[in-house]
Amino acid sequence: MSQDATSEGDLRNTGMSLKHDREWDYELEQIVEAIEERDAKRVGLQFPEGLKRRGPAVADDLRQLCDDDVTFMLSGQPCYGACDLDTYLMRRTDVFVHFGHSPMKESDKIIYVPLFSNVDPFPIMEDALDDIEGDEVGLVTTAQHMNRFEDMCDWLEERGYTVQTRKGDDRLTYEGQVLGCNYASADIPADDVLYVGGGKFHPLGLAMEHPDKNVVIADPVNNVVTIADTRKFMKQRYASVHKAMDAEKWGVIFCTKIGQGRMEIAEKILEDNENAYLITMDEVTPDRLRNFDMDAFVNTGCPRITTDDGPRFHKPMLTPQEYRIAVGDEPLDALEFDTFHGTW
Ligand code: SF4
Repeated sequence: MSQDATSEGDLRNTGMSLKHDREWDYELEQIVEAIEERDAKRVGLQFPEGLKRRGPAVADDLRQLCDDDVTFMLSGQPCYGACDLDTYLMRRTDVFVHFGHSPMKESDKIIYVPLFSNVDPFPIMEDALDDIEGDEVGLVTTAQHMNRFEDMCDWLEERGYTVQTRKGDDRLTYEGQVLGCNYASADIPADDVLYVGGGKFHPLGLAMEHPDKNVVIADPVNNVVTIADTRKFMKQRYASVHKAMDAEKWGVIFCTKIGQGRMEIAEKILEDNENAYLITMDEVTPDRLRNFDMDAFVNTGCPRITTDDGPRFHKPMLTPQEYRIAVGDEPLDALEFDTFHGTW
């Protein structure tokens, strides 16, 4: 597990001077070690969208720490998760570093640098206690705050709560970790779940997947406590299903990103529906689908493209289960959040 930017994992304290100051710990010494060990000459660096602007500075620092004959290459592909490794670049490099996400699947060539946050979660957790109704509480967070997870459990226990945690499935690396598409770590008996982390993206998915739970959001980044409210989301989902009920021609999307492929689901739809057409693509965007003359789409790739970006597409975009509802194979009230399990 990594340290935060002020601890021993930071090269600024080792006497090695770097060109750029960093607020995150990019674990450069681990990367340099792997490069030397493997005598690597070509190194790929992949950052998620929000951190891409840091890429050149990290490359500069690494260049300074490595021999001149090592080439660093930045991935310009879109990246939103560990499901989204740049396989083209990975195949052409000796070491491939993926920043900002925890491992979805380990491999000798890939180094994952999750970039743990150094924000203090306890003041906002204190505020969140007012919204926890019972004595038993589930605790979940994202990869960015995993370095404090045990401390968070102890903190809650010291305040009299019985804390329930679980590891989830093999798409998740850590106990208590959630992804935008996987909330198996919240499959616990407690009615209250405390989510500690920035933004509403993860807790909204969590509340949709577990509609019977009180999901309390303690956001230490924006310093606010809220209760996850899925009404707007659910309304949108029902509206999309209704709109797609008359559809005749269906586009079935298979996403070619390494950790987003669900071909068996796509094939099942094609098998049962002669008006369904398989469309393969690496990035599912409204622009790329606009030229396809379909009445509706089913997305077997990232579920959050469907639920969060759905209204931006020119035709209804459904999850695989919503498709089954729209064609009459399942009742409307069976509607559930689409989750993604397994790796690749
Ligand atoms: S499939 Fe979507 S939600 Fe799941 S990890 Fe990938 S980008 Fe995140």
